[in-house]
Amino acid sequence: MILPRLNPFLEHLTAYRPSEGVHAAASPLPLSANESPHTPLPGIAAAVAETGAAVNRYPDPECRALTRALAGSLGVDADRIAVGAGSVALLQTLFQAVAGPGAEAVHAWPSFELYPVLAGLAGVRSVGVPLTGEGHDLEAMADRITETTRLVIVCNPNNPTGTVTSREDLEKFLSRVPARCLVALDEAYAEYVRDPASACGLELADRYPNLVVLRTFSKAYGLAALRVGYLVGAPGLVALLRRACLVYAVSTAAQRAARAALGLREELMERVAATTEERGRVRDALLALGERVPVSQANFVWLRLDGDASAFGDWCAGRGIAVRTFPGEGVRVSLGSPEDNDAFLTAAAGWRASRADRGAVTGR
Ligand SMILES: *Cc1c(COP(=O)(O)O)cnc(C)c1O
Repeated sequence: MILPRLNPFLEHLTAYRPSEGVHAAASPLPLSANESPHTPLPGIAAAVAETGAAVNRYPDPECRALTRALAGSLGVDADRIAVGAGSVALLQTLFQAVAGPGAEAVHAWPSFELYPVLAGLAGVRSVGVPLTGEGHDLEAMADRITETTRLVIVCNPNNPTGTVTSREDLEKFLSRVPARCLVALDEAYAEYVRDPASACGLELADRYPNLVVLRTFSKAYGLAALRVGYLVGAPGLVALLRRACLVYAVSTAAQRAARAALGLREELMERVAATTEERGRVRDALLALGERVPVSQANFVWLRLDGDASAFGDWCAGRGIAVRTFPGEGVRVSLGSPEDNDAFLTAAAGWRASRADRGAVTGR
């Protein structure tokens, strides 16, 4: 059978599976997708419910009420904001916006798994630059920028390692990026950052006209299922990027819930604070077990396991815990409720004990 001629990249692509290999339990502990463990606040559920009676109508294609609310909340002009169906959709828009013969995008690796996927789908060549000490190697990334580089992505904090880039390092980097090259700062986990030295995109976005900052309602705001995110950049650039967004992509429910979430910011940030406390506790426990875990500024921790990553991921899956495995690199574990985190720590302790037993048998 002859298949129609498609983008050859599709042949190398495997479908994204948020939690592979979990066989033991029908509903595994969901520690693989960095979601908020909290069910929505009543105000958010109500905002979603209210939209049910009007689903015969298209949503506002310009997301005007949400854009105004974001402008007020962030203290930036509304014409500097574009709303999309999750920051993944906005990333896709960026790749499509820079695509063209020979176009390349530079990003760190390991970093967000969808960067190379979205690049390939848009026909952009993705250049992954290895991390140094689990963080971005911004000097190496700047060295990889050529005439054909159209987009550079800095993920801060980095998914999956949780490390942050300092303001100083980012500014040094930005001064090396040519003005013709778009820079995207992916701040999906910005609300979880407690390190005062970390770069904050919104502070930089007015000064660098080629910089866009991506944020999402999926993580700290707990709206992963609704698909809503936004970007902030210079008005002229944002006006063009808005044209590249798929029309009507952000549902009325998503727009309304995101506005409600902005109004509930204080309560939601208390939940974020509970997660950042768990982050310290979980990391300390893992360090005590002898794991290598960098300081995380996000809602997950990274275990550097190298060749043991897949075996550890399978070990967790076998105990009904879904984690995210990066084969040959490590495992990313989302912070859940204290009980779920304890269940993970028990599994991690069991893994260490089993390794120690094996070491004793083989005399290693
Ligand atoms: C989760 C995540 C996103 C995507 O978020 P959505 O808004 O749900 O599409 C983007 N970037 C990074 C680095 C993420 O981890």
